[in-house]
Amino acid sequence: MHSFPIDYVEPVFRPPSEAKSLILPVTNGCSWNNCTFCEMYTQPQKKFRARKPEDVRRDIARAAEAFDSVPRVFLADGDAMVLPTRRLLEILADLKQAFPDLRRVSSYCLPRNLAKNPLKNWQS
Ligand code: SF4
Repeated sequence: MHSFPIDYVEPVFRPPSEAKSLILPVTNGCSWNNCTFCEMYTQPQKKFRARKPEDVRRDIARAAEAFDSVPRVFLADGDAMVLPTRRLLEILADLKQAFPDLRRVSSYCLPRNLAKNPLKNWQS
């Protein structure tokens, strides 16, 4: 039996432009989860938490075994930039090592978290 290499907590959302990206959850849910128009992460299983680094690393390793090429990765769920910069850099380093042809990593984010994160000025 084939199983997808990533352990998703459903539902999973991504922008239409990320249809061909590997969706990698680094958090569960949204750290804010308070926009009146949004019900994306209101189900109990989507309560916000950062995923354990070892779980993210395991998913990356499984995806590297399963896919020949991963040029694009989308960091889920609703607000990956809430993670500490040190943790985000670890994730980027793990992705770069696992996927040699990686060209782009993107995510949803809360503007306030982007504003306080030094990665906003980071370029490869
Ligand atoms: S920040 Fe985004 S994901 Fe979070 S509640 Fe608002 S619209 Fe939804």
